[in-house]
Amino acid sequence: MIDVCNIQVMKPLLSDHGFHFSKAKGQNFLTARWVPEQIAEDSGIDRTTGVLEIGPGIGPLTQQLCLRAGKVCAVEVDHRLEPLLKQTVGEFDNLEIVWDDVLKLDVQTLVAERFSGLRPVACANLPYYITSPILTALLEAECFDAVTVMVQKEVAQRMCAKPGTADYSAFTVFCQFYAEPELLFDVPPHCFMPQPKVTSAVVKLQVRKELPWRIESKELFFRTVRASFAMRRKKLSNGLTSGFPELGKAGAEEVLRACGLPENVRGETLDIRQFADIANEILRRRG
Ligand code: SAM
Repeated sequence: MIDVCNIQVMKPLLSDHGFHFSKAKGQNFLTARWVPEQIAEDSGIDRTTGVLEIGPGIGPLTQQLCLRAGKVCAVEVDHRLEPLLKQTVGEFDNLEIVWDDVLKLDVQTLVAERFSGLRPVACANLPYYITSPILTALLEAECFDAVTVMVQKEVAQRMCAKPGTADYSAFTVFCQFYAEPELLFDVPPHCFMPQPKVTSAVVKLQVRKELPWRIESKELFFRTVRASFAMRRKKLSNGLTSGFPELGKAGAEEVLRACGLPENVRGETLDIRQFADIANEILRRRG
């Protein structure tokens, strides 16, 4: 197996194929072998697992996934990588590469078609410019057991944040609604080529099998969450009034009272159960 993380191997491989990194495609390739090894190890995969990888690049993580999984399906948008991947991962017969933009694919269908009889998980060193649309697609597909991703450290902190902290956001609530995220380890810029300006981190999202909250309408729940964070520095009653004009100020205040929340409460201090209570109460008032 070619050691693609070794700079002495990677540089000639790239130049032999006249490959130049595309900043627009978020191409920062791993040059420290411990990183893909540790990601694959921590993602808890084995021969019973089907792994969806996004953005294999020249294949450092793909190699580690293929060594452990039943099947790997890697989605890559940059066709220039085809001859390079042939050299680095061509030997694996449990690998299928799909040449496409992951955001244009129906993830649920892809998983159902490729991973029959296997436990589906997703694992990737994500292209950072589309981190949130990819995570949104992976979690909303509701077909993975776990999603293990490398992202910018500040995004990782937002995914794992607790209520009442500066990092807690609508994106936090979205991630923690579908999964239980755990920050696994940091990866410094010198582990990549070219080096990114920021530190990265690996997060494992253990997807919830059952939601521990009673949510009457998912659409209304997320609308409530967006309204609650839209005016971060103001009272939640203001956010709800502007997110749900039909309630009016008095109606918004009544909703909070009915949920046992103080009149001056701020959205950023609420946990998921409290957002669920508010959304359910708004729905009840609509009749
Ligand atoms: N996995 C490799 C590694 O760790 O060295 C490469 C990771 S690099 C951060 C992100 C990869 O995602 C690149 O190979 C890039 O071409 C690919 N990519 C970017 N946008 C994509 C998209 N919309 N769909 C699929 N792959 C994409």
